[in-house]
Amino acid sequence: MRITFLGTGTSQGVPVIACGCEVCQSLDFRDKRLRVSIHLEIADKSFVIDTGPDFRQQMLRERINNLDAVIFTHEHKDHTAGLDDVRAYNFSQKRDMPIYARPSVLEQIQQEFAYAFTAIKYPGTPQITLNEIYDNPFDIEGITFTPIEVLHFKLPVYGFRIADFTYITDVNYISEEAIEKIKGSKIVVIGALRQEKHLSHYTLAEAVEVLEKINPEQAYLTHISHQMGLHREVEETLPSYIKLAYDGLRIFC
Ligand SMILES: [Zn+2]
Ligand SMILES: [Zn+2]
Ligand SMILES: [Zn+2]
Repeated sequence: MRITFLGTGTSQGVPVIACGCEVCQSLDFRDKRLRVSIHLEIADKSFVIDTGPDFRQQMLRERINNLDAVIFTHEHKDHTAGLDDVRAYNFSQKRDMPIYARPSVLEQIQQEFAYAFTAIKYPGTPQITLNEIYDNPFDIEGITFTPIEVLHFKLPVYGFRIADFTYITDVNYISEEAIEKIKGSKIVVIGALRQEKHLSHYTLAEAVEVLEKINPEQAYLTHISHQMGLHREVEETLPSYIKLAYDGLRIFC
């Protein structure tokens, strides 16, 4: 499986509009973070988890010419806003784009992109088919995805385990039951917003603590705010098996 980090930033991205802080002014390419998403390529199949506001730019940057499905973690705009741009794949692949999410997330998507779900559609609107997912593993094109429910303040969010790879973005609580589902993963990606406490996201220290429990071979942190600090400086403080992800990073699992 080939995994590409399409975006590793929190909802505002990094740099933040009109911010003069040293991270937003940094010239290090690893301090430029689009909104969070990953691309998975498994046995010639191509998937993205979430379509944030930077979806179009990410697909162009990584030259992703085929896309078999989109899987959603939750309904927040930084994870869904780019969905309209699956139109490009509707045209090039001449088929609807299947999307997978829990029923409450599909409902929200149908409200936000109402024009794509009306009985009579304006020509050129996105062609999307809705697939409900629950707490059980599901298959897309022969690939098994295991949802892992975590909490993002009070909102249940899905992380996903695909073989030995687990990806969890927006989270500040993972139950023991969920930890058991993650254990045994070789590579774990988990959200860590910044160093100071936050209502709905793990801090750097909290993410490291939960990773110590899970004990993967390799771990990457994502959904990073400009308040985290400079990539180079923060990474030096981490245990050797934990790295900060950055946009364009490609790993194999
Ligand atoms: Zn988010
Ligand atoms: Zn800043
Ligand atoms: Zn969120």
